Amino acid sequence: MNAPLRTESPELAPQSADPLDHLADVLFHKMGTDGVYARTALYEDVVERLAALITRHRDDGTEVMRFPPVMNRAQLEKSGYLKSFPNLLGCVCGLHGTEREINAAVSRFDAGGDWTTSLSPADLVLSPAACYPVYPIAAARGPLPAGGLRFDVAADCFRREPSRHLDRLQSFRMREYVCIGTADDVSDFRERWMVRAQQIARDLGLSFRVDYASDPFFGRVGQMKAVSQKQQSLKFELLVPLRSEEKPTACMSFNYHQAHFGTTWGIKDADGEPAHTGCVAFGMDRLAVAMFHTHGTNLDAWSAKVRELLGLPAHAIADAHIEGWR
Ligand code: ATP
Ligand code: ZN
Ligand code: MG
Repeated sequence: MNAPLRTESPELAPQSADPLDHLADVLFHKMGTDGVYARTALYEDVVERLAALITRHRDDGTEVMRFPPVMNRAQLEKSGYLKSFPNLLGCVCGLHGTEREINAAVSRFDAGGDWTTSLSPADLVLSPAACYPVYPIAAARGPLPAGGLRFDVAADCFRREPSRHLDRLQSFRMREYVCIGTADDVSDFRERWMVRAQQIARDLGLSFRVDYASDPFFGRVGQMKAVSQKQQSLKFELLVPLRSEEKPTACMSFNYHQAHFGTTWGIKDADGEPAHTGCVAFGMDRLAVAMFHTHGTNLDAWSAKVRELLGLPAHAIADAHIEGWR
């Protein structure tokens, strides 16, 4: 006998089953691929206001850098990314052949064939996180000053994890504060940011909890790395229940890499020891989706406190009142 159709199966469930789907029409335009969306003005305005809020919390003496969506492939390879997340990496490819070879590929396409078989990898990958490029830049500057260095970095990031869920994109914005210094510098930095980030989430009116986390390391060896990462408390996440309480969404993460990048890039602290590093990462798109999910898609209905925090003008009624006094 055939098994009855199970509507709760993810494959068969109607698309409207996901609690975030009602946001799609207001926040995004489809671009033909799951997890890659054009953004509406309403959405982008909130992303920019959240970014400004995060900027206002920046430590003094933090150096700002903005990275393009691509980075040097050899640098990412050297960082160890392929050992941990080879399945998520996107690599830039191009038609690098002679004019004849390139024309042959295009002709193949014109004839209904596959042009992509002529592609070969470039020296670029799509950045999977915002902080990778900062370590070689810091290393090139020589030994760290006492107290270490702090950076404010951001990039459009790519991870090959297609999903229909609006909080799991393939192309998304990541903002990070990075600390490079001694183990104590990094631990102070991370503790300070875990307190500050929770205050930001509270001010934004988000429900959340902070919990130990592990990265989704690839494969069976990866599972062991994940256990050890959790045991050593190397990663925490600020989780917001967007889809369910049981499977909340990480909107920020607080990461301690120990001496991994310091050793890899030869970054030395003021005492000549391999530097320790840590970062706090803000998923800008997830934070924006969380705001719309929590407060609704009508910004006028957001509380006066949240509107003020985000620099939105006071409510229409109050505006009308002020109008009379001009
Ligand atoms: P998850 O466990 O949800 O996959 P992660 O542990 O892979 O998250 P990090 O590597 O710590 O995430 O990345 C930093 C932040 O970037 C995350 O806290 C999240 O806010 C955001 N982020 C990560 N992956 C995605 C994605 N696919 N779509 C949107 N935002 C993401
Ligand atoms: Zn980072
Ligand atoms: Mg992930």
